[in-house]
Amino acid sequence: MMSPMNNIYISKHITGFLPIGRNMVRRGAWKEPHCPRCPFPMENSAHILRCPSQASRILFRSSMQKFSIWLENVDTPSILTTHILDITASWASGVHTPPQKNSPQPIILQLQLGWDHFTHGRIHQSFLQYITNHYIHISSKRNPSSWISVLIQKLWTLFHLPQWENRNKYVHDLDRVTDSTTSLNGIFCIQNRFLYKNILYNMQHQTNYILRTEIKLVYQNIFYSMQHQSKIYFTYQNQIGLPRTISPV
Ligand SMILES: [Zn+2]
Repeated sequence: MMSPMNNIYISKHITGFLPIGRNMVRRGAWKEPHCPRCPFPMENSAHILRCPSQASRILFRSSMQKFSIWLENVDTPSILTTHILDITASWASGVHTPPQKNSPQPIILQLQLGWDHFTHGRIHQSFLQYITNHYIHISSKRNPSSWISVLIQKLWTLFHLPQWENRNKYVHDLDRVTDSTTSLNGIFCIQNRFLYKNILYNMQHQTNYILRTEIKLVYQNIFYSMQHQSKIYFTYQNQIGLPRTISPV
């Protein structure tokens, strides 16, 4: 289970509303959009996990170790573990991995979708059958659906969130946030409208290749957080014609 703050972070990340350099300049809160940790000129959400700064790379290696231990602990097939770890490491270095003929089928299909989707918890549905078959083969009583939903959570909690927290320490060191609290509060209700619409759209239109049930399990907490983070949002709800309750289809 992820904390409400984590859920808010994830909902902002997947809908493009993180207070990253690019957005902060647009909002007039920062003068420069560059990464707080390295000289990268335009900080965007994709950069946070792949930032080449020493601090980011040390953190990434630590995340990879924890991720590797988790994959092993839940009896992931070793060939799948090897591919996932290798491709994630290459992806973080900006190296594209082409699908190989001898790779497990879910790896080939996920690479065709793009590994960026994987690192953001958008897992190809073929993983479920693959893990199911493997657990049957080794007579494991583990739940294959749990493998998927915990995998999605691990990708956020082991990789994205620690990088975001680390990056924010550098923002405070630079002391370049002007009165961002005020400007952020000012657009909070507008953000929520977009967040909600975008997430619903993603749920309805982009999950045909992803595991809908598992996505729901993970993101229902995000919907819960969104319901509770702003009262202003609910006063806008009728005006913008959204359903009163926020629950994935
Ligand atoms: Zn950077």
